[in-house]
Amino acid sequence: HSGFVSIIGRPNVGKSTFMNRVLGEKIAIMSPKAQTTRNKINGIYTTDDAQIVFVDTPGVHKPKNELDNYMDTAALSTLNQVDAVLFMVPADERPGAGDQYIMSQLANVTKPVYLVVNKIDLIQPDDLLPFIDHYRHGHDFAGVYPISATEGNNVDELLSDLTSKL
Ligand code: GDP
Ligand code: MG
Repeated sequence: HSGFVSIIGRPNVGKSTFMNRVLGEKIAIMSPKAQTTRNKINGIYTTDDAQIVFVDTPGVHKPKNELDNYMDTAALSTLNQVDAVLFMVPADERPGAGDQYIMSQLANVTKPVYLVVNKIDLIQPDDLLPFIDHYRHGHDFAGVYPISATEGNNVDELLSDLTSKL
């Protein structure tokens, strides 16, 4: 089981935190400040029977200037070069225009896209299903994983599922 997996999502949803947890060391740079990740950062997850190269991306949002534009291109250009895409959204924020923009880009992706709902430690369990349904209406996801990148909930399940499909 091996392949490339891109992690995509708005700034501050927890992409780098997730990647650091998976890789077990501080490779990507985490910060509460948006766009700390200026370019693509790869990390290799290796187990006895699997090797996944994770591609952390700068947060994607509607470009306002040339630097935004550059960073968006860096993130979006990975989508058709990888074997699977993790689209990460924060459970504690209402879905907005930023995610809508990313979803419109995902429409062109032929590889499996998984919805990763991060920060579930910050919400009431009852709020999860309506939240997921909202995103499900916008894209036919290959799978949905509610996780907490900081607490670790469900991260192992996501990894073993993802690995088994690569
Ligand atoms: P990125 O811009 O998508 O790479 O986001 P970061 O990984 O830099 O995380 C942005 C902020 O969200 C940081 O302050 C993280 O500590 C926080 N964060 C990330 N994942 C979680 C989570 O599962 N739960 C909570 N409560 N905070 C999180
Ligand atoms: Mg980051």
